[in-house]
Parts: sequence; C-alpha cells; structure tokens
Amino acid sequence: MKNKRQMRTKIQKSTELVLVITLLISYAVLTLVVYQQSLSIMKREVRQETDYIRTAVLEAGEVYLEDIDSIDSDTRITWVDLDGTVLYDSKEPAQTLENHNSRAEIKLARKNGSGEEIRISDTMGKQLFYYAILLDDGTVLRVSKTMDNVATTAFNMFPVMIILAILMIGLAWILSKWQTEKIIRPINQLDIEHPLENDVYEELTPLLVAIDTQNKEKDAIADMRKEFSANVSHELKTPLTSISGYAEIIQNGMVKEQDIPGFAGRIYKEARRLITLVEDIIKLSKLDDESVELEKENVDLYGLCREVCSRLAPQIEEKHVHVEVMGEQVYYRGIRQILDEMIYNICENGVKYNVTGGELSVWAGNTLNGPKVVISDSGIGIPKEHQGRIFERFYRVDKSHSKEHGGTGLGLSIVKHGALLHGAEVHVESAYGSGTKVIIQFPNGN
Ligand code: ADP
Repeated sequence: MKNKRQMRTKIQKSTELVLVITLLISYAVLTLVVYQQSLSIMKREVRQETDYIRTAVLEAGEVYLEDIDSIDSDTRITWVDLDGTVLYDSKEPAQTLENHNSRAEIKLARKNGSGEEIRISDTMGKQLFYYAILLDDGTVLRVSKTMDNVATTAFNMFPVMIILAILMIGLAWILSKWQTEKIIRPINQLDIEHPLENDVYEELTPLLVAIDTQNKEKDAIADMRKEFSANVSHELKTPLTSISGYAEIIQNGMVKEQDIPGFAGRIYKEARRLITLVEDIIKLSKLDDESVELEKENVDLYGLCREVCSRLAPQIEEKHVHVEVMGEQVYYRGIRQILDEMIYNICENGVKYNVTGGELSVWAGNTLNGPKVVISDSGIGIPKEHQGRIFERFYRVDKSHSKEHGGTGLGLSIVKHGALLHGAEVHVESAYGSGTKVIIQFPNGN
C-alpha cells in the first residue's frame, strides 16, 4: 500500500516543478525587460550628455574637453575633424587613432546631423553605444558608453533570482505540506462504519458512497452466512437425530431381529442424505471461495448433456422417464466440473420432480446470443409464487417431497453460483402441473 508521504512528496514535487518553470520564465522575461529598459535609459543619458558637451565645446573649445578628461571610466568622448582625423579622444592619445570617417555613427551624423550604433569597440573590446552629432563647424562630436549585454544583465540579476527562488521554494514546500495535511486529516478521521454521516469535502463523496455500498454488501453477506449456518445446522441435525434415534432403539434391544435390516436401511438412507448434504455444502463453499481458480477449458455442452443423462440412467429407469438429448456440438470455455454440476442438478430435478413415465428433453446448441442449454420436463411443475425463490439455499417447494428424493435444497443454488461464475443466465419457465423448462444462456465470444 502506498502511504501518504509518497502522495505528499508527489504534490510537493509537482508544485516545485511548476514553481521552477515559473521562476525560469520570469527570470528570462525580467532579464529582457531590465536589459531593454537600462539600454533606453543609457541611450537617453548619452544623448543628453552629448548635448551638454556640445554646448561646452562651443563655448570653450578643446580646452574644455581636456578638462573633463574621463568624467567617468565608462564614458568616452571623441572629437573628429572634417577629414576624419581624431582631434581628441578621452581614452587614447588622438594621434594613435586611425581615420574615423568610416565609422557608421559618424557617417550618419554627417548625413543627418546625428547618428548612433551599438558595436564592439575595436579599441576597447567591449560592447559600446556610440552617439555622434555634427557640430556647426563640420566637426563631429561623439560620446560612447560601455553597456551591458543580455548575458551580463542576466548575470547581475542572478543573486536576486536565487534568493527569490529559495524563498519561493521554501514557501511552496510549507504551503503544500499544509495543504496535503489539510486534505489528508479528514480522510484519516473518516468514520468508515457510517461513511455517509461524515462531514467532509465534496470530492470524497464517491469514495464514501462506495464504502457505504460495500458495507451494506458486507452486512448482507454476513447475514446470509449467519442464516446459512443456521440452516446447515438444522439440516444436519435432522438426519443425525433420526440416525441416533434408530440406533438407540436397536441398542436398547427394542427391535425384533427381523426388523433390524429395515432400521439399518433407514439409518443408511439418512446417512446417505448427510453425505449428499455435506457434499453439496462443500461444492457451494468452493463456489463462494473466489480464490479457487479452476482451470478453464473448451467444453462441449452437447456432449456434456449426453454424459450427464447417461450418469442419471438408474434414476431415469426407475421413474420410467423418456429422455431425449438434441441439438449440436457447442463449445463453451469454462470450468468443466462446475458446468457438469449445473447441468446434472437441473437434469436430476427434471427426473426427480417428474411423473412416472414422463418426458425429459435436453437441447444444447448455439444461438445468436451465445451457447444455450434448455432442459424441459413434463413433471409436477413449480407454482408461480415459488419460482422466484427456488434458487435460494435450502429452499424447497415441498419439503417432504424433496426430502423423499434425497433433495437438499442446494442443487439450484449451485446452479445459480455456477452460472454467475460463467457469466451465464438461468431462467425458469414453469406452470404448476405442466412441467418445467430451465434455460441456461451463456454469453457470446469467450
Ligand atoms: P432439491 O435438492 O430440493 O431438489 P433444488 O435447489 O435443486 O433442491 O431445487 C429447489 C426446489 O425447487 C426443489 O425442492 C423443488 O421443489 C423445486 N424444483 C426444482 N426443479 C424442479 C423441477 N424440474 N420441477 C419441479 N420442481 C422443481
């Protein structure tokens, strides 16, 4: 059985997975947003700065530039003459620098008055934002600033994200623990005996209804068992009382010598009854015990009917019943021994409850609905009001008549159980005084 810790870990794991995915996505989105934003802020700053410097340069000329020499290490100021010669550069000596007229931002500035570009600087090997403007005298003033790339932005945000992740995962862990406990506590406190009286969340209703149904079934089975054992005890007691009574009379010498065989015969008959009864009880309890996995095989139902009838020959002859087995070979995959008992019990009833010189007709064959066996007799029949109950254990329409024929009242219960085990249906059609027809309809395709 799986325990709740496994379920809690499952819930926690999935929560954490969702969380990690969320964190990763927000990390990526945030990085991009922050990058875009800082980029535009930086661009605006650089443009403004360039404007200030222009004003200052117009006022004070190159002297000013020398003065503001590296205002901050990130910013670089370059002043380019008409022919592209670098007049001034805040990072490198101007004379070491090559002609700058080929630079894109400078070209654009000459054309449009201002120009900008982002590229890796040849001189500094970093990603830079360049902004250039054309001054009134035809020279170009350029300000550039190193900028973070996306990876650096991501890297800078990493510690924050880690702290956030730890906090969130911790929080999710506590929350899911709390949640699962909240879910599990009422389950552990359920009153299984009275499932429908529990006041818990709606999702548990199907479970509770199922438990309730099962409880009712269990109660019904327990009742049935109790009734059955009471019946069994009673049924066993009757022949035993007779046996012990006959034996006692003989023991006390109250029976004449010549009557002893008669008494012995009665004892023998009662003992036989006991044996049949015990045999039937054993068969039934075997059918009840679902763990008995008997071997299934293809059984020819027609052949089985013939076999059963020939085994019943002594009883058939005694009653002068005329028997007819008709139909065709029809195979059903089932448990031979149980199918045999089913057909045997019905045929035996057909003889037992027949009239002397009556008819018993057995038919086996295939139908659209599957294999079918029909056993009809011309016997005493079963009154309508009893037909619904004859499959109950120990139920007999006429107790004395049945006992006289060695009936236990268990035969048709065995039939019913066997049918259930095979997915088959048993129907009885009968009218009092005009015979009985028992139909076993097996399911198709097995
Ligand atoms: P039993 O051992 O008494 O025959 P069954 O369970 O086989 O028990 O049958 C239950 C009762 O149903 C019988 O006692 C009998 O009264 C009635 N019954 C069964 N089959 C027939 C039949 N073919 N004709 C008339 N009555 C039958």
